[in-house]
Formats: sequence, structure tokens, C-alpha cells
Amino acid sequence: MKPSPAVPVQDRQTLLAAARAAAGNAHAPYSRFRVGAVVLSGDGRLFPGCNVENASYGLALCAERGALAAAVVAGVREFTAVAVACVDADAGLGVAGRTPCGACRQWLFELAPDAVIHLDGVDRTFTARELLPEGFRL
Ligand SMILES: [Zn+2]
Repeated sequence: MKPSPAVPVQDRQTLLAAARAAAGNAHAPYSRFRVGAVVLSGDGRLFPGCNVENASYGLALCAERGALAAAVVAGVREFTAVAVACVDADAGLGVAGRTPCGACRQWLFELAPDAVIHLDGVDRTFTARELLPEGFRL
């Protein structure tokens, strides 16, 4: 999936729908837990990502980091929003089953510290600073 053209997309439901669509491309044969994410650049471009697992489990890439990496490759350094959809999350998992993992929180902390983070199925929003208040810095 190529990044969309520069069109302002800031509606929560639009972002979450794009994240759910990205999850449809997930390669998750081991966990069967498909995740999609999109990041919105400061100039209005939307970059999707999905989780990509591997038989060597530790090499799996999360949707959030895939989306951020795609945007960075395109030269993006400013992000205004992130949306994440764990389309296979059981309702009983609650918020904890829908938030970015620790590694992704660190990526978000460095690359998108002030972006509004929307999680599918969670009513409130977050920032990376809220999810990782004492993130690592050099
Ligand atoms: Zn992650």
C-alpha cells in the first residue's frame, strides 16, 4: 500500500478505518493477532503499517513501527496523529490489549511525541509521552 497523497485526514473515524484496513494486510500466521496502524504526517499524508511476523519470532515487526518507518523513508519528521487497530483483540482484553507495545512506545516517544494516538475500541486518546513518560533519550 502506497502512502496516500497529501490530503488532510484528521477525523478519528477515518484514521481508525484506515488502520483497520491496514490490519487486513498483516502477516500474522503465528499469533493470529492482526494489527494495523497509520501515522498522519504534519503535511497531511497518511502512512499505513501492519504487523509482519516471522518464523524466527523475535524478528516480528509491529504495525506502528512499520508505519513510522515508511513515513521516515518518505522524509517525514513531524506527526500529528497515530491510529492503531488490533482487529483480533478480544473484547475482554480492554485497553491493555489495544495499546502499543513497549518497543513501539519508545519509537513513538522519539518520532511522534506529541501526536494524538487513537486506539480502536478505546474512547480516550493518548500521547506517546503519556504512554511512556520516562522514555529513553540520548
Ligand atoms: Zn509494538
